[in-house]
Amino acid sequence: MKYQLIVGLEIHAELKTESKIFCACPVTFGAPPNTACCPICMGHPGTLPTLNRHAVELAVRAGLALGSRPAAHSRMDRKHYFYPDLPKGYQISQNEMPLCPGGALTFGVEGREVTVPLSRMHIEEDAGKLIHREGVTFIDHNRCGVPLLEVVTKPVMHTPEEASAFLKALRDALVTLGVSDCKMQEGGMRCDVNVSLSPYPGDPGVRTEIKNINSFAFVEKAIRYEAERQRRLLEAGEQVVTQTLRYDESTGTTIPMRQKEKSEDYCYLPEPNLPAFYLTGEELEALGRDLPLLPYERAKELEERYGLSCSDASILSAQPSLADFYEAAAHNAPPRIVSNLLISHLLPLCAEPFASPVAPHRLSRLASLCGEGRINNATAKSLLLRLVDGDFCPDEVILKEDLEQITDRGILWDAITRAMAADVPAVTDYKSGKKAAINRLLGAAIRRTQGKADPNLLRSLLAQALEQF
Ligand code: ZN
Ligand code: MN
Repeated sequence: MKYQLIVGLEIHAELKTESKIFCACPVTFGAPPNTACCPICMGHPGTLPTLNRHAVELAVRAGLALGSRPAAHSRMDRKHYFYPDLPKGYQISQNEMPLCPGGALTFGVEGREVTVPLSRMHIEEDAGKLIHREGVTFIDHNRCGVPLLEVVTKPVMHTPEEASAFLKALRDALVTLGVSDCKMQEGGMRCDVNVSLSPYPGDPGVRTEIKNINSFAFVEKAIRYEAERQRRLLEAGEQVVTQTLRYDESTGTTIPMRQKEKSEDYCYLPEPNLPAFYLTGEELEALGRDLPLLPYERAKELEERYGLSCSDASILSAQPSLADFYEAAAHNAPPRIVSNLLISHLLPLCAEPFASPVAPHRLSRLASLCGEGRINNATAKSLLLRLVDGDFCPDEVILKEDLEQITDRGILWDAITRAMAADVPAVTDYKSGKKAAINRLLGAAIRRTQGKADPNLLRSLLAQALEQF
């Protein structure tokens, strides 16, 4: 029997605010336990929350960029459940009136364009962190009350690759919008995955939920493992049980956390200590102004405007500062030479988030000199690396150090003849059919021009020379 895999995602991303969602405590990572908390975020009786307006604004910005129509009127709800990391015994979240209903995200996966519709995006508070050590469990309240954006997709994805591509596209979008840093290794972005196998169209099957996955690779692996586990059960005539699972990274398997008899009853109630909140038309308009292009859209634009390959365009558009730098450099220079120099040689040396130690007009000038044939690629690369250590004018250095590309056939012939004379075995190898021996001769001939030869011209002259020999 053939089953169709159905995947839906629920993502929690930390909103990039300075203070927590209901109190003035700072949002920190790595601070000593229980040094960034107060009676409000620890849920002491008698304390009152105040909604951080900046968290609302960031969520609305994400909603507007992802095609949601943020609600003009919204409110917070209490979601009741017991867990030791939740001191109040309930989480302040949103249930009936999410801030950003609907929306969708478009991205590329394996050469296809996919649009995944969203059910909703809403804001809520994070819980604390349990620390288990030598059989004792401690609680760190620093994360209590950190503002989260929860993004829920419709269950419309059908491959593990699609799910992880969605997650990456969402991360790139939220980072670009300045809504979240999405630092997965710090728990700043976590993903719950719903997986089911549909036996025939219209029947979604029985789904299980894998909680709190914190890497793109693990999302793919967990879905692949869980789909296979469910398929084996179904093919053996057994039933899939509705369950909450966790993904165990060391064994690569999913492990049950708790059985769900029926869907959990959180007994949602409107949060009585926070008034409903409103967004006026002007406020919405202001928040929607100056929204940057999302990385996928920007990549399409770069492909079209500069004739870049799809993969180069998506590398360059992953960060707005990188895409801006590229466009500044490609403005007056051959765009593909600029992208090659940038991606292959400069980018690996740059910090993240992208900041270049070389000014865009310098990269631009090197690419132009290269495009005009004044210098070869190797010289462009070495000058670029020297620019990383300190600024200079490439034209002056090329003149002073005599770095111009050599296209003079007489000089190139001379280099070839000498290289051949110095390595007769390579010539013999080539003549006896080992064509790869040409590379040894080519390298030697280039060195005889101090690396300045026009490599294409040199190669064709060398081939001629070898044929005539
Ligand atoms: Zn606090
Ligand atoms: Mn949630």
